[in-house]
Formats: sequence, C-alpha cells, structure tokens
Amino acid sequence: MRIVLLGPPGAGKGTQARSIEKAYGIVQLSTGDMLRAAVAAGTEVGKQAKAIMERGDLVPDGIAVRVIGDRIEASDCKSGFILDGFPRTIPQAVSLGKLLEQRGTALDAVIELSVVDEQLVERGAGRFTCKNCGEGYHDRFKRPATPGVCDKCGATSFSRRADDNEATIRSRLANYHAQTSPLADFYRRQGKLFTVDGMGPIDEVWRQIDNVLCRFRASAASN
Ligand code: AMP
Repeated sequence: MRIVLLGPPGAGKGTQARSIEKAYGIVQLSTGDMLRAAVAAGTEVGKQAKAIMERGDLVPDGIAVRVIGDRIEASDCKSGFILDGFPRTIPQAVSLGKLLEQRGTALDAVIELSVVDEQLVERGAGRFTCKNCGEGYHDRFKRPATPGVCDKCGATSFSRRADDNEATIRSRLANYHAQTSPLADFYRRQGKLFTVDGMGPIDEVWRQIDNVLCRFRASAASN
C-alpha cells in the first residue's frame, strides 16, 4: 500500500504512521525526519534547509521532491510506504504523482487527520522524543511510564525539536492552511481522501485509521 498521511503539524501523523508501519509492515517516510537528519549531518541540503525550518516555513518544493524521490527508490519501499509530511503543496503532489507513474504505480489512499488549531498548539509545544529510538512522547498526553526512561528502549536521553515552540507552531499552522490544506480537495477529487477525526486519544484515532485501511485492503482484494 502507498499511503499519504495528511494533517497539520502536531496532528499526530508521526505517531500514527509508526502504528501503520507496525501493523501493515510498510515503511514510514518522514520528510521532516530526513531534513532534520540532513541539518544534523551538515549536508548541502541541510545547510539550505536549516534556517527555513527554524522559522517554520516550508523548504523549496525541489528539495522536498528530491529528498523523497531518492528515498522511494530504496528496496524497503518496494512493498509500499507511508508518507508523513509529504506532499505539502500542490506542486509536490503533482511531482509525486509523476514519480509514481514513472514507476508504474500510484497512491492508494490519503488519510487526513482533522484537528482544530488551538489543540495543535498545545500538542506541538509539549512534544519530546527518545534520542535513542525515536519514540515520541508528550508532557500531557503521553508521558513515559517511568519518568525520564523511554518505555520502548529504556534510554534516558530525550530531545525537543527546535521548531516546537508556540511562535513557530503558529507559523507552521499558517503555512499549513495556506499551502497544504488545498491537498485535501486535490485528493478528494481523485477519490483517494479519507478523513478521520484526529481529536481523540491516540488509540481511538488509530482504530479509525486501521478501519479505513482494512476496508481499503478488502475492497482492493475483491477488485
Ligand atoms: P515535520 O517534521 O513534518 O513537521 O517537518 C518539519 C519541517 O521540515 C517543516 O516545518 C518544514 O520546514 C520542513 N519540511 C518537511 N517536509 C516538508 C515538505 N514536504 N515540504 C517542505 N518543507 C518540509
């Protein structure tokens, strides 16, 4: 399956993408993670992206498309992937369609997580991640069972993203509404959009996504 997870920053795309990865055995591709890795490694792409990401703006379409285009060539993407944070503009979506068409494939489904802005600011500003395994946590919604210890791998070092502060989150939200939300209509017209309510607890949102994907897989198998 080739899936896009669409939704504003802080909607829970990363968390849900990891659940899809585990349940359906397809790899999660996060352009945000790839760009942060490029910034940390000091590559040419990282140097171009650093200041833009710190402001909460979008990196140029050409960079994002190149990053994802290279990644989907890898062998672990053969049986499918979940795109988390890509595409974020109509030109990116058009490029993605062409990239997949050249490979004789297409997107199967786009799952939109719908969350209101005020909750997004609260969610985004409280996020932190295990430095060792990348498991995501939140000051209010998902604390480690033992404070300061990762539930998944037992590590004790965590990090917070430089762009997870209220001012930058508001700017990322403004960009989302201006540049990314038109993608919902773009994919609705293609009959690929499924919208789920992203406001509830993580498990409840996952149940809705799992339902959509189960139904999708059953209907694909019967066609
Ligand atoms: P994320 O981790 O998805 O919230 O992305 C963090 C930041 O990386 C964004 O605020 C953008 O600056 C940049 N970024 C990630 N994905 C894209 C994309 N598809 N297009 C442009 N910029 C992106």
